[in-house]
Amino acid sequence: MELVTPLTEVKIVLNDFKRLWADVESDVLASVKTVGESGWYILGSQVRDFESQLAQFWGHSYGIGTGNGLDAIEIGLRALGLQPGEKVLTTPLSAFATTLAIIRAGGKPYFVDVDPSGLMDLEQAEALLQKEAIRFLVPVHLYGHALSLSTLETLKNRYHLSIVEDCAQAIGATHEERMVGTVGQVAATSFYPTKNLGAFGDGGAALTSDPNLATLLQSLRDYGQTQKYVHEHLGLNSRLDEVQAAILKEVLLPKLPQWTKKRQEIAKAYCEGIHHPHLKIPTPLDTHGSVWHLFPIRVPQDKRQRFMDALRGRGILTAIHYPALIPDQPAFLKAFPGEASIDTTLKFPQAKRFTKEVVSLPIHPYLSDDEVSQVIEACHSWDTL
Ligand SMILES: *Cc1c(COP(=O)(O)O)cnc(C)c1O
Repeated sequence: MELVTPLTEVKIVLNDFKRLWADVESDVLASVKTVGESGWYILGSQVRDFESQLAQFWGHSYGIGTGNGLDAIEIGLRALGLQPGEKVLTTPLSAFATTLAIIRAGGKPYFVDVDPSGLMDLEQAEALLQKEAIRFLVPVHLYGHALSLSTLETLKNRYHLSIVEDCAQAIGATHEERMVGTVGQVAATSFYPTKNLGAFGDGGAALTSDPNLATLLQSLRDYGQTQKYVHEHLGLNSRLDEVQAAILKEVLLPKLPQWTKKRQEIAKAYCEGIHHPHLKIPTPLDTHGSVWHLFPIRVPQDKRQRFMDALRGRGILTAIHYPALIPDQPAFLKAFPGEASIDTTLKFPQAKRFTKEVVSLPIHPYLSDDEVSQVIEACHSWDTL
């Protein structure tokens, strides 16, 4: 007779949408009702009020709701005057959306390697900026960790850069007490459900403190209109809708500070509790202001699958952020066939190692202390069999 290992029930997931819904159901339904009864579903008072609350939270003068984070980056670059074929410096280790936005805005992506924490290596960025005439930068505050904002500021001033900061994973993150997204002319973020401020569907926002840029961003997300039926620009249809804005404003944004605190507590427990010769926690030097969108750890390449399987066997789900570099993606190589000959293992050795070693442990605001202990315990005993 064949022995079948029983499938362990998954208990600890990466994002617990069931618990989220149980927590917020009645408030969300009340927000939906308000919008339904208002009879106004696109670009009304809900979006306007949410935009100003978000801007206030962020310390920016203007928030501009968009359909998603990808579009927020694209219209940010377009508002900053990116010309077709112009070079844009970014990181090879991120959501594909970062580079896709650059390409959709007409830019030509340039990449530099990452540092040991997985974030764009700003020293290498500077070395490239010295050699190449690059005017645009899309830095990514990956995993919820802030890049050094003082270094970004220096680069911006020294090389006269136009910057759209990709804050999709880092809403509320700080570096030396300063909020991410306040160095670049534009900050972009996402309300995709898994993000730290995740809506019940798609959404995003661009933020700026420049009134002219704000006007342009507002126009670009709405068919390029400057007034009704006057189209000054070839814009997008990329609006945050009233229902998502109402839910974000009434229910989710007010919870963000406590959710962030919970993520930081879990990260602290993992950092202090996980000790295993094969597991490394690749944190930047300064994680004080991180909002821990993800909790990446590194496992030797030949042991990663075993590690993930062992945790799954105990009902703990993990994931990989990210399994491939953006310049190795088929769509990128089709768009830039000349890059196919580039060996990314040689060109971006650190980033490439990340794709082979990184594993994300569960970190979300609805994890219980007991579940955090179970994850830590599993990290200690996974290779004892
Ligand atoms: C999620 C994400 C995006 C894209 O956001 P969408 O709302 O899904 O379009 C862009 N950049 C990063 C780093 C992300 O994590």
